[in-house]
Amino acid sequence: MVKRNLHLAKLQSGYLFPEITKRKKAFLEKNPSAELISLGIGDTTQPIPSLIANSMAITAEALATPDGYSGYGPEQGHFNLRQAISEQVYQGKRPADDIFVSDGSKCDIGRLQILFGGQASIAVQDPSYPAYVDTGVIMGQTSTYHPLSKQYSGITYMPCTPENSFFPSLEKLPRTDLIFFCSPNNPTGAAATYEQLSQLVDFAKQNGSVLIFDAAYACFIRNPNTPRSIYEIEGAEEVAIELGSFSKMTGFTGVRLAWSVVPKELRFEDGHLVQNDWNRINSTFFNGASNIAQSGGLAALRPEGLKAIKELTTFYMENATMLKEMFEALGYIVYGGVDTPYIWVHFPNQSSWEAFEMLLEKSHIISTPGSGFGPAGEGFLRFSAFANRANIIEAISRLRRALHKLDRV
Ligand code: PLP
Repeated sequence: MVKRNLHLAKLQSGYLFPEITKRKKAFLEKNPSAELISLGIGDTTQPIPSLIANSMAITAEALATPDGYSGYGPEQGHFNLRQAISEQVYQGKRPADDIFVSDGSKCDIGRLQILFGGQASIAVQDPSYPAYVDTGVIMGQTSTYHPLSKQYSGITYMPCTPENSFFPSLEKLPRTDLIFFCSPNNPTGAAATYEQLSQLVDFAKQNGSVLIFDAAYACFIRNPNTPRSIYEIEGAEEVAIELGSFSKMTGFTGVRLAWSVVPKELRFEDGHLVQNDWNRINSTFFNGASNIAQSGGLAALRPEGLKAIKELTTFYMENATMLKEMFEALGYIVYGGVDTPYIWVHFPNQSSWEAFEMLLEKSHIISTPGSGFGPAGEGFLRFSAFANRANIIEAISRLRRALHKLDRV
């Protein structure tokens, strides 16, 4: 018999979203006629703008012709797409050859962990997107699990709570090789300011750490003063890798297209270019993003595509505002919903899973328990604004009824 990979055995009871699915299934078995509304998993619901879908259809049809057929493309992505990302997302601040097109930021997170290896120490925001910790555990970045603190040694949790304005208290942090930082943040909705990101870049420089900046939600930023990229901070190219994704930007969660930026200025201790190793990892583990998806990405970055993206993201941000205003009117303390389509709501005197179960029972709404994103998420629920308008209106009316009833108890 083959021995199980012990690192996998160390993963906490499954990934958060499968656990939610399990509870949802159990609820539906008991209440088969319940019409659940999901504001849980952050999956997009609105159709892909037609000019982007049409471009993919044309590419797909061309594949059926001798002239239009193409096989494997470059592992780094088609140069015209890398160029378009360089120009449209980074206004030329990052050159096309620093950009690597991929099949998703989640996959890039996994491959980055392979790049730095199981011996690397990492720091993550607490709460944070679970993939940073889980990929680290799978890589064996940690050997000991501490049940009381629910933490692994080798992984530093940086509490990000209302008390520190969702920005880690850097002076209390130990040095780690990697720092994962997501802004605008999933799940808290917090978007770091220019000053905060400057401090983070300085901190990474002083410690010789690599900052992995997850900008998957940058396209939702509405505040003109909120940085959209870590490269808006001077000198960040010497310490930071950035991840970008088409998933939420163009409804590509199922199409799969993303990118990473690994600047040439970023070097290992021995002077070797990180970009060279990243190129090696990508050429070894990956054979390039789908050529159909890449043609959609290119269409999205043309002027009409950018206009369509703005409309799509504005739609979700309107949902976010509606949800936020409803909770606030009921007296709840709410974060996020300004530069991100996530609402982070505090449920006093309840654990996150208790609040989750309560809303499932009373209003048939699926949310995401904050504690599933890390210990500092306890007592919060995350609501996703990725939903169609009818569901948001119905969810708001159900939540109003459910939470009013609770107030009167
Ligand atoms: N990073 C964050 C913070 C996310 O929330 C998500 C998806 O929800 C991802 C990365 C993964 O994005 P992709 O669909 O590109 O794999």
